[in-house]
Amino acid sequence: MTDEMDLIPVSEWGFFTFPRPMVIAGPCSAESEQQIMETAEGLAEFGIHVFRAGIWKPRTHPGSFEGVGARGLKWLQRVQREFGMKVCTEVAGERHVRECLDHGLDMVWIGARTTGNPFLMQEIANALQGTDIPVLVKNPISPDLDLWIGGLERLHQAGIRKLGVIHRGFSTWHDIPYRNDPGWRIAIELRTRYPQLPFFADPSHMGGDRKYLLELSQRAMDLGLEGLMIESHCHPEVALSDAKQQLKPDELRILLGEQIVVRDADSQADDYRENIDQLRADIDVIDENLLSLLKERMNISRRIGEYKKDHNIAILQMTRWDSLLEEVLQKGTRTGLGEEFLRTLFNDIHEESVRIQNEVLWTKE
Ligand code: PEP
Ligand code: MN
Repeated sequence: MTDEMDLIPVSEWGFFTFPRPMVIAGPCSAESEQQIMETAEGLAEFGIHVFRAGIWKPRTHPGSFEGVGARGLKWLQRVQREFGMKVCTEVAGERHVRECLDHGLDMVWIGARTTGNPFLMQEIANALQGTDIPVLVKNPISPDLDLWIGGLERLHQAGIRKLGVIHRGFSTWHDIPYRNDPGWRIAIELRTRYPQLPFFADPSHMGGDRKYLLELSQRAMDLGLEGLMIESHCHPEVALSDAKQQLKPDELRILLGEQIVVRDADSQADDYRENIDQLRADIDVIDENLLSLLKERMNISRRIGEYKKDHNIAILQMTRWDSLLEEVLQKGTRTGLGEEFLRTLFNDIHEESVRIQNEVLWTKE
């Protein structure tokens, strides 16, 4: 895929209404015909045109609800007929693609667990060859931009020209409030390389809890992304999958209509504002990363403190500190950062580490 990959602009797919955000909404899983119709009706009522529902569900543990299978595709056809909505589902292999094409689905997406598997991506690309339905590719669960791009390349090589991406965050062992690490920097990098790819965020799987939907959707809009894929269920409390992160259609209407602030993305007159907002959003992301790195560093300091205490070793080893500071100054100044700034910053960090270790030393078990 070259940076000039030829794609059909999303405005010509005939799927979405503008201005931003383009919205795809619907339940995590299709569970029953009644649940699909009730949810779709609630969404259609306030102008959602693109409906999602998982038919085959990739679950972490065996024995969890694994989707209703192909019979759910008939329910999606009813949504097309009765509400005039476009419908889409997740495909993870050739058989899924065939079933979707046989049932006239309007679009498919590839889930995070599948994007990371080149065999499956090639199988799906081959099965889609010769069709012109749009395909959205979620990021792989690991923060591997090349793997994501590789999946897009396979589809592009198979002749898919209606391509888009969905950013749903990355698995992490770090202690973060969200279900998945937003890792916005990777999304920004992909966007910078392929600005023509329609870009959706999936705040539902990123946050894992409906309480984070607003802040994550807002961040996606501030970064200038075009769309949102959000999970919505007529009765989230009894959902068979992802119950905590789904919104009732009415709640989604409020989130989109009254809470999210969407700034004009392509105003000529507002060039300055737009650039400054983008830069500030980038800074916010970096600050979040800095905070989480600092927290991790302090956690390790605490563990060192405990270890020293167990072995009856003093907190401060000046030679270690001197060599650390020297190395940081050398490396940092080489990148163009000011020496005085680095000295102050690392002295403060060190001081806090010492304070934490001191705390550990004098805490009685
Ligand atoms: C989903 O969209 O329901 C889903 C399984 O998402 P992901 O592939 O992002 O985990
Ligand atoms: Mn889900």
